[in-house]
Amino acid sequence: MNLAEFDRAELELALAGLGVPRFHGRQIFHWMYRRGVSDFAQMTDLGLDLRATLAQAAVAAAPALVTRQTSSDGTVKFLLRLEDGRHIESVYIPDTPAQTFCVSTQVGCAMNCGFCLTGKMGLTRNLTAGEIAGQVRVLARETGLGATAFNIVLMGMGEPLHNYDATMKALRMLADEQGLGVHPKRVTLSTVGVLPALERLAGESLMPNLAVSLHATTDEMRDRLVPINRKYKLKELMAVLKKFPLRSRGRITFEYVLLDGVNDHLVDARRLVALIDGLKAKVNLLPLNEAPGIPFRRPSDERVNEFARILSDRGVVVSVRKSRGRDIRAACGQLIVEAVTHSPGQLLAERLS
Ligand code: SAH
Repeated sequence: MNLAEFDRAELELALAGLGVPRFHGRQIFHWMYRRGVSDFAQMTDLGLDLRATLAQAAVAAAPALVTRQTSSDGTVKFLLRLEDGRHIESVYIPDTPAQTFCVSTQVGCAMNCGFCLTGKMGLTRNLTAGEIAGQVRVLARETGLGATAFNIVLMGMGEPLHNYDATMKALRMLADEQGLGVHPKRVTLSTVGVLPALERLAGESLMPNLAVSLHATTDEMRDRLVPINRKYKLKELMAVLKKFPLRSRGRITFEYVLLDGVNDHLVDARRLVALIDGLKAKVNLLPLNEAPGIPFRRPSDERVNEFARILSDRGVVVSVRKSRGRDIRAACGQLIVEAVTHSPGQLLAERLS
């Protein structure tokens, strides 16, 4: 039995099955999440008998830390090993001004966006809820931030809405007051817009902030850059977003990667303004993080600023994402498990570099 896969109600039920009083669930949750402890022997406020019972019947495993790499800007990339030997990456981004953990939801990704290195790997498998929440357990422990308020962005490897149930369960586990108590308003879920799942998300009670990877303003261009657009067209996506419930003062973030000479023209900026007109929205521009094997270039800073100015002159709230951790390949779209797997994408990247 892996207690890491249980929310607290499930944990308490499992304990009852072992003849253990339910209230110990709170203590165990506290140890696992707040203190980052997986070894029952270290849960010192549990009786020795109870620790022995648990050790015999269960584990509380978190992903194993393989390496951590620190960027010159303070960003830290963690390579984690899962129980089946597969690897994922998670990133700690300090002082933005918040402390932010960027977490993966899948090993690889099936979305295959044209400019994203993770997408080149293809999808290996979904992460479980325990593996998604487990990244936060490990990062909180490693950074010592378990007792403070931090943000979580589901912007690592994978498409969260393509692994819906595990992602939502992980958010429930992370929100638990006996654990890390991460309020959903501190969580941002980033998606290409898997429409049926997005409609389902609209009905959730634990509602994270929403970021949508838009990247294009016409179906023709988006079909090319974000292949899921061939299935769910821009018009349908925008219609769902228009009805999407937002918390008070909440806004939908539109992420827009800027590719030199591809989607960074004046006309694109004007179309973008028109597309999001009437929505409570903000735009986050992401100048491309270049990588070997990615057939696009990053526009000049002047071009990026010009694009941003067109939006802001027309009343759109816009920011330019400062790329963090590029020197250690921890930046957006650069997460790929190197030197561990030999995915087609990695081989391609190696060949082209
Ligand atoms: N699948 C989700 C979560 C990934 S979030 C989604 O697509 O939203 C990662 C963000 O970084 C997405 O907006 C993605 O489009 C963007 N991204 C991917 N590759 C990038 C690159 N090379 N440079 C800049 N941003 C990139």
